[in-house]
Amino acid sequence: MDCIFCKIANKEIPSAIVYEDEDVIAFNDLNPEAPVHILVIPKKHIASLNDASEEDQQLLGKIMLTIQKIASEQGIAEDGYRVVTNCGEQGGQTVMHLHFHLLGGREMLWPAG
Ligand code: AMP
Ligand code: ZN
Repeated sequence: MDCIFCKIANKEIPSAIVYEDEDVIAFNDLNPEAPVHILVIPKKHIASLNDASEEDQQLLGKIMLTIQKIASEQGIAEDGYRVVTNCGEQGGQTVMHLHFHLLGGREMLWPAG
Protein backbone atom coordinates (compact mmCIF):
# COMPACT_ATOMS: atom_id res chain seq x y z
CA MET A 1 0.00 0.00 0.00
CA ASP A 2 1.32 3.42 -0.90
CA CYS A 3 0.98 4.94 2.56
CA ILE A 4 3.80 7.04 3.98
CA PHE A 5 3.00 6.16 7.61
CA CYS A 6 2.83 2.42 6.82
CA LYS A 7 6.26 2.85 5.27
CA ILE A 8 7.50 4.56 8.43
CA ALA A 9 5.99 1.74 10.55
CA ASN A 10 7.73 -0.83 8.32
CA LYS A 11 11.03 1.14 8.43
CA GLU A 12 10.95 1.50 4.65
CA ILE A 13 11.50 5.21 5.12
CA PRO A 14 13.43 6.72 8.01
CA SER A 15 11.92 8.66 10.90
CA ALA A 16 12.99 9.76 14.35
CA ILE A 17 11.27 7.06 16.39
CA VAL A 18 10.61 7.89 20.03
CA TYR A 19 8.52 4.83 20.97
CA GLU A 20 7.64 1.47 19.49
CA ASP A 21 5.89 -1.74 20.47
CA GLU A 22 4.10 -4.46 18.51
CA ASP A 23 1.00 -2.32 17.87
CA VAL A 24 2.05 1.32 18.06
CA ILE A 25 4.88 3.50 16.79
CA ALA A 26 5.62 7.15 17.56
CA PHE A 27 8.01 9.48 15.78
CA ASN A 28 8.85 13.16 15.60
CA ASP A 29 6.77 15.23 13.19
CA LEU A 30 8.84 16.41 10.22
CA ASN A 31 7.48 19.97 10.56
CA PRO A 32 7.10 20.51 14.30
CA GLU A 33 4.52 23.05 15.46
CA ALA A 34 5.72 22.95 19.07
CA PRO A 35 8.93 22.08 20.97
CA VAL A 36 7.49 18.57 21.37
CA HIS A 37 5.50 17.38 18.33
CA ILE A 38 5.22 13.63 18.07
CA LEU A 39 2.92 11.55 15.87
CA VAL A 40 1.53 8.41 17.49
CA ILE A 41 0.07 5.86 15.08
CA PRO A 42 -1.24 2.31 15.02
CA LYS A 43 0.99 0.02 12.94
CA LYS A 44 -2.22 -1.33 11.44
CA HIS A 45 -3.39 0.80 8.52
CA ILE A 46 -6.57 2.62 9.52
CA ALA A 47 -7.17 5.54 7.18
CA SER A 48 -8.81 7.89 9.68
CA LEU A 49 -10.94 7.90 12.81
CA ASN A 50 -13.91 7.43 10.47
CA ASP A 51 -12.45 4.09 9.46
CA ALA A 52 -11.86 2.66 12.95
CA SER A 53 -14.30 -0.02 14.05
CA GLU A 54 -15.37 -2.01 17.07
CA GLU A 55 -12.45 -4.39 16.64
CA ASP A 56 -10.04 -1.46 17.06
CA GLN A 57 -11.39 -0.48 20.48
CA GLN A 58 -8.51 -1.99 22.44
CA LEU A 59 -5.94 -0.56 20.02
CA LEU A 60 -7.38 2.94 20.34
CA GLY A 61 -7.30 2.72 24.12
CA LYS A 62 -3.72 1.49 23.98
CA ILE A 63 -2.75 4.45 21.81
CA MET A 64 -4.16 6.88 24.40
CA LEU A 65 -2.24 5.23 27.24
CA THR A 66 0.88 5.19 25.06
CA ILE A 67 0.50 8.93 24.53
CA GLN A 68 0.27 9.36 28.29
CA LYS A 69 3.52 7.39 28.69
CA ILE A 70 5.34 9.33 25.96
CA ALA A 71 4.20 12.67 27.41
CA SER A 72 5.66 11.63 30.74
CA GLU A 73 8.94 10.47 29.14
CA GLN A 74 9.18 13.75 27.21
CA GLY A 75 8.77 15.74 30.44
CA ILE A 76 5.59 17.54 29.39
CA ALA A 77 3.03 15.63 31.45
CA GLU A 78 3.00 18.01 34.40
CA ASP A 79 2.81 21.27 32.43
CA GLY A 80 0.25 19.81 30.07
CA TYR A 81 -0.04 19.03 26.41
CA ARG A 82 -2.50 18.65 23.57
CA VAL A 83 -3.56 15.53 21.65
CA VAL A 84 -5.13 16.08 18.24
CA THR A 85 -6.42 13.85 15.48
CA ASN A 86 -7.46 15.56 12.27
CA CYS A 87 -10.17 13.65 10.42
CA GLY A 88 -11.06 14.18 6.80
CA GLU A 89 -10.90 17.22 4.60
CA GLN A 90 -12.49 19.79 6.87
CA GLY A 91 -10.62 18.37 9.83
CA GLY A 92 -7.37 19.17 8.02
CA GLN A 93 -6.14 15.59 7.62
CA THR A 94 -3.35 15.39 5.03
CA VAL A 95 -1.99 11.87 5.66
CA MET A 96 -4.62 9.15 5.38
CA HIS A 97 -3.29 6.87 8.11
CA LEU A 98 -4.79 7.47 11.55
CA HIS A 99 -2.41 9.49 13.69
CA PHE A 100 -2.52 11.44 16.91
CA HIS A 101 -0.46 14.61 17.27
CA LEU A 102 1.11 14.99 20.72
CA LEU A 103 2.00 18.66 21.13
CA GLY A 104 3.69 20.23 24.11
CA GLY A 105 6.47 22.40 25.48
CA ARG A 106 4.59 25.66 24.95
CA GLU A 107 1.25 27.23 25.78
CA MET A 108 -1.46 26.05 23.36
CA LEU A 109 -4.09 28.36 21.91
CA TRP A 110 -7.79 27.63 21.99
CA PRO A 111 -9.95 27.44 19.94
CA ALA A 112 -7.77 25.67 17.38
CA GLY A 113 -7.77 27.33 13.97
P1 AMP B 1 -2.33 15.80 9.41
O1 AMP B 1 -2.33 17.14 8.71
O2 AMP B 1 -3.09 15.77 10.69
O3 AMP B 1 -2.71 14.68 8.46
O4 AMP B 1 -0.83 15.58 9.86
C1 AMP B 1 0.15 15.03 9.06
C2 AMP B 1 1.45 15.33 9.73
O5 AMP B 1 2.42 14.45 9.23
C3 AMP B 1 1.97 16.75 9.48
O6 AMP B 1 2.14 17.40 10.74
C4 AMP B 1 3.30 16.52 8.77
O7 AMP B 1 4.28 17.44 9.16
C5 AMP B 1 3.64 15.11 9.18
N1 AMP B 1 4.49 14.35 8.28
C6 AMP B 1 4.30 14.15 6.95
N2 AMP B 1 5.25 13.35 6.45
C7 AMP B 1 6.05 13.01 7.49
C8 AMP B 1 7.21 12.19 7.64
N3 AMP B 1 7.75 11.55 6.60
N4 AMP B 1 7.78 12.09 8.86
C9 AMP B 1 7.25 12.73 9.91
N5 AMP B 1 6.15 13.50 9.85
C10 AMP B 1 5.56 13.64 8.66
ZN1 ZN C 1 -0.96 3.33 6.35
